[in-house]
Amino acid sequence: MLKVHSRCDLACDHCYVYEHADQSWRGRPTTMSPETIALVAERIADHVRGHGLDEIHVVLHGGEPLLAGRDRLASVATELRRRLDGLCRLDLRIHTNGMLLDDRFLDVFAAHGITVGVSLDGDRAANDRHRRYADGRSSHARAVRAVELLRRRPELYAGLLCTIDVANDPIAVYEALLALRPPRVDFLLPHATWDAPPARPTPTAYADWLVKIYDRWVADGRPTTVRLFESIIRTTHGGASLTEAIGLQPSTLIVIETDGSYELVDSLKVAHEGAPVTGHHVATTSLDEVAAHPGVRARQQGLRGVSAGCRRCPLVRSCGGGLYPHRYRSGSFDNPSVYCADLFTLIGHVRATTMRAHTLPSADLDTIASGLGGAEEVERLATAQLSLRRALLAAVRRKAGQSTAWDLLTRLDREHGAALAAVLTHPYVRAWAVACLRGDAPAARLANIAAAAAVHARLDARLDVEAVGGEVHLPTIGVLEGAGEGPAALVIEDGRARLRDGGPRSLRPVLRLVSGGFSVVLEDADPYRDCHRWRPAGRLTGEQAARWQEAFEQAWQLIEKEYPSYVPAIEAGLTTIVPLLPAEEGREVSSAARDAFGAVAAALPSDPATLALLILHEFQHVKLGAVLDLLDLFDESDRRLFHAPWRDDPRPIEGLLQGTYAHLAVTDFWRVRRHAEPEPARRHFAHWRVQTAEAIETLAGSKALTPLGERFVAGMRHAIAPWLAEEVAEPAAAPGR
Ligand code: SF4
Repeated sequence: MLKVHSRCDLACDHCYVYEHADQSWRGRPTTMSPETIALVAERIADHVRGHGLDEIHVVLHGGEPLLAGRDRLASVATELRRRLDGLCRLDLRIHTNGMLLDDRFLDVFAAHGITVGVSLDGDRAANDRHRRYADGRSSHARAVRAVELLRRRPELYAGLLCTIDVANDPIAVYEALLALRPPRVDFLLPHATWDAPPARPTPTAYADWLVKIYDRWVADGRPTTVRLFESIIRTTHGGASLTEAIGLQPSTLIVIETDGSYELVDSLKVAHEGAPVTGHHVATTSLDEVAAHPGVRARQQGLRGVSAGCRRCPLVRSCGGGLYPHRYRSGSFDNPSVYCADLFTLIGHVRATTMRAHTLPSADLDTIASGLGGAEEVERLATAQLSLRRALLAAVRRKAGQSTAWDLLTRLDREHGAALAAVLTHPYVRAWAVACLRGDAPAARLANIAAAAAVHARLDARLDVEAVGGEVHLPTIGVLEGAGEGPAALVIEDGRARLRDGGPRSLRPVLRLVSGGFSVVLEDADPYRDCHRWRPAGRLTGEQAARWQEAFEQAWQLIEKEYPSYVPAIEAGLTTIVPLLPAEEGREVSSAARDAFGAVAAALPSDPATLALLILHEFQHVKLGAVLDLLDLFDESDRRLFHAPWRDDPRPIEGLLQGTYAHLAVTDFWRVRRHAEPEPARRHFAHWRVQTAEAIETLAGSKALTPLGERFVAGMRHAIAPWLAEEVAEPAAAPGR
């Protein structure tokens, strides 16, 4: 983004350049000089050449760029094209308020291939709310006139940019913009931070405003590109966002000011004085060097670059934590967006209209059948599980009747959807709800779920919650001790929970295991975690927790290094590890439970490599359990038992399918491992590939599979075929055969 002029002929009161914390424009030259333009063009050309880029986007910006004048704009375009012609395609645009736009400017733009975007906030009433001259005059008529000129030269018309004000009528704004037949519309959230939040009459005012437009846009047959909506739809289906405002794709934007200084995304000016400064200049620094600046890198780390709260959010791959500047709070960007509630509601609405939660595309089934499954496939499984948990909570409410907890939950759902979803992703919410509906657990736990979500949302509340064994467990938050038996009175203030009567002053936060940017809960307290085949361990001591941390860190590093193709799915779906009691005979024990999507349970194994194997193995069960919640892969009425090569007792068809799918990963584990640890890995690989292949053939010949099940088993057979052809040195192959 080239700032070709640093002043403006309007005085819009929502402008981030002049009306927010950063006032650096006051010290800049008015216009970019010819010498600076030449240096900029040279830097861009060097960068294109160095990276073999076939396209580069340059936006001429300000201030108001038309104030630079026709000759200066023409010279910028000439210099850029002179340097870049023959090297790459140059997409050259200008963003203007349109006040000075006339046919002579358009002739210049036509001659130099510059397309034009115009800022316009809607109909006259909407536009005049902020976009005025310094003396208070309206700018609406001139902006519309500029667009009318552009409509006569459609090859130059790039689109309209509209900054949202929820005081405006959204449909009037939409209709006013659409009447100008824009090829593209950008709706921009007004720049704000947690320290300077936006004007917000209701908790999701911006989402509600955009949802009205979205519904109308869909009803109209999507008559123009709305970048925000298209980006949500694309990211929902695994594609890339079209805008920096949402999504996890790395930022590729750098700003060059009129004096030639490089700056970070210029909307950072809303955070604090000097926030966008890099300290680099085109005269001394290449674009490669400035791309290595920590402020640029911070916006290029995908999931690892967002806050812990966002990483737990089921919509993070669409939202990406929102526009980077909107995350700022008191010196840190490590927060969800100040528009979190709006983004969650809007993205949830768009997803609900474009994606059926309780189904799985056949392409996803094929990817999962191969033994892997990427982040998108597992995220779709997680979305379905979230929907299932909501339905289970509603069933509990029907059984138990109306309550304060239910009222709080519905309020959280309306106003703090991400906070509620963060709690509902906890695996044992479903385990408890299923037990409750069976009559094996009290409905009172609904209050603990509501309380945990209120803590995430920083919403003050008082309610009676369930205590078990004198402890109050708040899923994803932690444990309060000293509660006594029966219901406990809980107070939540300013994002903290405490017992109203006595008890410790602070809560023991949930334990976490961390390796690099990946983190899961180490759950040793949830009273409903006892739904696995093996008994859970009790509360961990500090020393035991430290041993888990050490083993997990090494196990995850091993998975990242040697099994990278498993990483995206596990990162997208594994939220929790539950310590189990060790088996008496000393063998390794691990488990996954159909009612606890997202959790793997294990006794701490003797070495990190075994923990890595257990995670890979059990996560196969996690994925397949979620697939079986959506699709019928076998005939449930078929009661026959089948031989599984790894067990003495015959298994029902579901058990054989689950075991075979898990052993696909086990085979792959030893296949890779034999390069680092030839024995016993070669022997294990030879053994498991034969057993897994045999089980696949048993499944294929079982006549118990549905057509989808046959497709799934064919996918497993396809995955193992090349491994069967791999050479394994004798005598390792012999025991396998
Ligand atoms: S928590 Fe909020 S800001 Fe973060 S990804 Fe989810 S919706 Fe976006």
